[in-house]
Amino acid sequence: MKRDLLPQVKKYFKTNLHTHTNISDGKLTPVELIEKYKSAGYQVLSITDHNVIVDHSDKTTEDFLLLTGVEVNINDEHYLPTKGYWGVTYHLNLIAKRPDNLWQPVKVYGKRETAAPYEALVTSENMPKVYDVEAINNIIAKSNEKGFLVMYNHPVWSGQHAADYLPLKGLWAMELRNTTSIVEGYNENNHAVYQEMLESGMRLFPTGTDDAHSEKGMFGSWIMVGAEKLEYDAVIRALEKGDFYMSCGPEIHSMTLEDGFLEITCSDAREIFVETHTRSARYACAAEGESLNSARIDLTRFFGWNREVPSDNAFFRVTVFGHDGSYAATRAYWVDQLTLADTGNVDVMERYR
Ligand SMILES: [Zn+2]
Ligand SMILES: [Zn+2]
Repeated sequence: MKRDLLPQVKKYFKTNLHTHTNISDGKLTPVELIEKYKSAGYQVLSITDHNVIVDHSDKTTEDFLLLTGVEVNINDEHYLPTKGYWGVTYHLNLIAKRPDNLWQPVKVYGKRETAAPYEALVTSENMPKVYDVEAINNIIAKSNEKGFLVMYNHPVWSGQHAADYLPLKGLWAMELRNTTSIVEGYNENNHAVYQEMLESGMRLFPTGTDDAHSEKGMFGSWIMVGAEKLEYDAVIRALEKGDFYMSCGPEIHSMTLEDGFLEITCSDAREIFVETHTRSARYACAAEGESLNSARIDLTRFFGWNREVPSDNAFFRVTVFGHDGSYAATRAYWVDQLTLADTGNVDVMERYR
């Protein structure tokens, strides 16, 4: 039986999980920002102002859902006074599983006049903002405990390296792409960072976000969420399960697995990559002047090999590139969450014995 790897729902909701308004350092008001995203065909938006969490759900309508969120930053203060530029920093997005959850781990931003009315609403934990893996992991753990999905943001813009992000625990997602970083000149296409996180045993999902502070960084990266309904709980459940893929262009229409064969259908593509936890990889490419709209990819040897050399962390994931270089990327699918019928392991073992 074919297993659908993408959620089987009527509609996918175009979603941006990272934006700023004039409550912190963004240009637009929440209402202006919502109008922009609505007209651009989005259905879900999280307004994640810096270090100030605000419940915007009074602006939720039948066709547009606001998710409560905040972006928390923990800077390495060392670099600030001497080098005159923003030093390395951790930025985390916290997406609340309930709209009225206004807990936040660190002190309110409070510098902006527009943030002032919200200050009274904030029950701040005031956890230490120390640039240190242990302190960050405490913030992530506490945020999970308090009912948030935690996303690791823009490693390139943050000037961070493997030593900063590989020891993090309890992350739900990472930004594979961040539009505002890119329009500012940072190559925030984090294919290798995501791969490295997965290979090191982290289990998290890839997102695309805008991080828009103005009109400049809008509509360049998003996620398509497969939820039953456009309602807070349903969308959060889908996010939590990884029922989405990220994109900055292409659409993935279907993805199934049966007896070790992966079948993908998608919008016009130039190439499709399948990466795994090992050096085992697959590739499909359109003929010159043509488009790829489907591919049947043989993973039987991968699953077979995996069975011969078991890995607790075995996974595969798919990236679809369009002709213009834009891409869509799926989550990692871990083999320990699949069944024998998906992988066709028994057949493979017979074949290679
Ligand atoms: Zn940030
Ligand atoms: Zn941001």
